[in-house]
Amino acid sequence: MKKIEVTTPSIPPLEEYIREIESIWECKWLTNAGPKQIELEQQLTDYLHVPYCTLTANGHLALEIGIQALGLTGEIITTPFTFASTTQAIVHSGCTPVFCDINPTTCCIDADKIEALITEKTTGILPVHVYGNICDIEKINDIAQKYGLKVLYDAAHAFDESIDGIPIGNFGDISVFSFHATKVFNTVEGGALTCADQNLHKKLHSMLDFGICGKENVECVGINAKMSEFHAAMGICNLRHVFEEISKRRVVTEYYRKLLSDIPGLSLLEEQENISHNYSYFPIFINKEQFGHSRDEICEELEHHRIVSRKYFYPLTSHFSAYGGKFANADTPIAQKMAEQVLTLPLSPLLTKEQINKICKIILDF
Ligand SMILES: *Cc1c(COP(=O)(O)O)cnc(C)c1O
Repeated sequence: MKKIEVTTPSIPPLEEYIREIESIWECKWLTNAGPKQIELEQQLTDYLHVPYCTLTANGHLALEIGIQALGLTGEIITTPFTFASTTQAIVHSGCTPVFCDINPTTCCIDADKIEALITEKTTGILPVHVYGNICDIEKINDIAQKYGLKVLYDAAHAFDESIDGIPIGNFGDISVFSFHATKVFNTVEGGALTCADQNLHKKLHSMLDFGICGKENVECVGINAKMSEFHAAMGICNLRHVFEEISKRRVVTEYYRKLLSDIPGLSLLEEQENISHNYSYFPIFINKEQFGHSRDEICEELEHHRIVSRKYFYPLTSHFSAYGGKFANADTPIAQKMAEQVLTLPLSPLLTKEQINKICKIILDF
């Protein structure tokens, strides 16, 4: 039986990509703000309805550049219920992550618990739109205003989403997107920062190219996070299909919901009403006492049938051994409980009804 992967990257028809890269052979411009990169940056500025968009080599470097460009130092309030990248970007930038608990209905940072964590060392807030659920933007904005803090959203899961009709890249000082192969929209590896401030946009551009500004000046301490022409070409092709891909993901998600609703001990996150979703992940939460089996047992049972699911996000980033237990005592009981119960099921535009039936049957018959 064919293995069902947790996701399958979206790729354009081969001929379409070949057609797209032909011009690279003509102009022999491979990287450094070439025509493909400029074209994709413009397309994404339009597509995401943002004032400025800056492409990067990946989402992680975009987070690091964002933190540094905003001048964040000291403590950054963030969530432990996220991918390693979010926390690593904070630590790698020389800042200290201060972990805030999450809201169980969205798995995003609980905005009501942020204020209590602010100290004189706090300079910013780094929330994550987990699974494409949108954070409490208004409350976070109010807190940031009140205390003079910067806000950098990790929007890696939220490509093409909007809330109350406002596209997601318009909130906070910066939003960061990931275009990694496994994300809804991919450039193989890639990412972007969106912002409304032209000077900040210029600074981001210079930071991702060693801080170089003009021909004879290096104006800030930067890094190499440039997107190559081949990656940008992949993005140009994939962007033509992303609307269709999201529609297919929606059908998959709705079918899962139909089969897995009202099962004792198995809960789903409710879809937020005022947002247009991209259906990037399908997490389920298993309460062992009520369901009769643990999350880990279900994960193993699926694996036994060659179906790959992920404990996404487990463990909490605050528990990573990399940090030597320094943050392990963060008071985030809801995040801990969600991390112990969560399993994200396979989800891709290509997943068939038959496959979904099979996955759900294994879980429900178990
Ligand atoms: C994927 C991801 C990132 C990192 O993006 P890369 O492009 O893989 O570097 C950051 N944060 C979250 C929440 C992610 O899922």
